[in-house]
Amino acid sequence: MTIEELIIRQNKIAAAFAMFPEERNVQQAIIKYNETLPEEERISVFINTADVPKRTVNIIDLYGRPECPNCGAYMMIRPLPPNSDGYKSQLVCDNEDCDTVLNSIYTVKEWVNALKEKYEARRNAVESDKSVEER
Ligand SMILES: [Zn+2]
Repeated sequence: MTIEELIIRQNKIAAAFAMFPEERNVQQAIIKYNETLPEEERISVFINTADVPKRTVNIIDLYGRPECPNCGAYMMIRPLPPNSDGYKSQLVCDNEDCDTVLNSIYTVKEWVNALKEKYEARRNAVESDKSVEER
């Protein structure tokens, strides 16, 4: 399961609970919600937990995280308290065996915006490739 698929699933589960607020049980809410959807948009009631990324999913995962220059693993971005060096955030390697930590003058929000721009540029490139093929 990709992060995109997981985010879509989470949005649908939220919609299911919004539509059936009396349901306390996620499986029951999904079953009822599925009945309102066309077949191809339904989501599975159970998922294999091994398929789910362990870390909490957030918007940065959708846009694509920066990669560690030393080991290539994804990097987590955390805000820094005000400091005399003017650093606003820190990139921390997600690999337990790697202790790479990079200081950044960008705020977490600026990082998210930069990653979003990169993601949208990538997506637009994919879409224009598709329209070329259709011609
Ligand atoms: Zn690393």
